[in-house]
Amino acid sequence: MANIVFSNVTKRYGGTLAVDDASFTVNDNEFFCFFGPPLSGKSTLLRLILGLEAPDTGEILIGGRPVNGVSPAERNVAMVFQNLALFPHMSALENVRFPLVERRVAGAEIEKRVADVAAKLHIGHILHKPPAQLSGGERQRVAIARALVRDPAAYLMDDPISALDARLREETRVELKRIQRELGKTLVYVTHDQEEAMSVADRIAILENGRIRQIGAPAEIYDRPASTYVARMLGSPMMNILKSVRGEGGVEAADGTIRIADKAAPADAMEIGLRPEDIKVRPWSDDGRAGAGRPARVFEVEPLGGYTVVTLAAGQARLRALLRGQPDIRPDAVVAISCEPARVHYFGQSGGALAR
Ligand code: ADP
Ligand code: MG
Repeated sequence: MANIVFSNVTKRYGGTLAVDDASFTVNDNEFFCFFGPPLSGKSTLLRLILGLEAPDTGEILIGGRPVNGVSPAERNVAMVFQNLALFPHMSALENVRFPLVERRVAGAEIEKRVADVAAKLHIGHILHKPPAQLSGGERQRVAIARALVRDPAAYLMDDPISALDARLREETRVELKRIQRELGKTLVYVTHDQEEAMSVADRIAILENGRIRQIGAPAEIYDRPASTYVARMLGSPMMNILKSVRGEGGVEAADGTIRIADKAAPADAMEIGLRPEDIKVRPWSDDGRAGAGRPARVFEVEPLGGYTVVTLAAGQARLRALLRGQPDIRPDAVVAISCEPARVHYFGQSGGALAR
């Protein structure tokens, strides 16, 4: 069992509250992701798991064992660092072998494990090279292999693929996800990239200023964000959030941008949230009658191949709509916009989500 439990863990650096009363459980075999903006406490959480930092208050358990006073070496968790520094005087192969040699693992076992991890990361053909002759992406894979070869109870990765170019990043994250599933290991992963978080994680913890704002499966958080903060963190383009007022037969944006015929809208709703893919855009001429939609002017159109992002100027707001394919919509056209009541998110005074 290699689950990781935090109970009310707080960590300060001087006056900075880096981790604020964190309580969560990373399950055994789970791909668990910390996601948040820079300085939100992601790396500090990993350092607390690893034992490089001690909590000021609260308790940490790994595999059921309290580890507050336990040194990093005795925790059996392996970190893949943000700066994947390989030993420059050793070949890639010697780098990957190193953690096993250091632990005096038998030679035959070393070769078996190295061959195994090299195959999984597709680095067999570059193992003879020194780090200086490897590309950035290759160095990163070798460093990941070096962490994987140790067979620890849990892996920690701090934004491990952020230095790769976009294409390699997409490939590597798919591999990481597959490797994690195949190995059946607990993996705690930090990223500041929402698409990466959603694509790899079994569950995501969303951070703001050292506080965990929501924990859940990606789809669960996406569909039921607990607050406007979380709602804005997942989804691209991000959720449109508009001040709202109650109108006749429903709720509407305060400036009249859009009307939602939802008699069940919560009475204390202060804001409505509309995912870009939930905004319906139709030609005004087809649907210009009362009730069919509100008028909006097309501000800009971004055709992205499989889908198109349309930015709409409506009332005082800019709304972003995500449409399938390449619809025939031109800048400055007037369109009718609407949204199914069931797709609308409601938020209250302090930005907290409201049940409908
Ligand atoms: P992230 O990894 O999300 O960018 P960090 O965990 O590195 O965030 O930092 C969280 C907060 O703690 C930040 O305000 C940061 O400035 C502060 N912090 C982190 N490490 C130290 C340190 N060694 N000394 C002082 N402040 C630190
Ligand atoms: Mg960090």
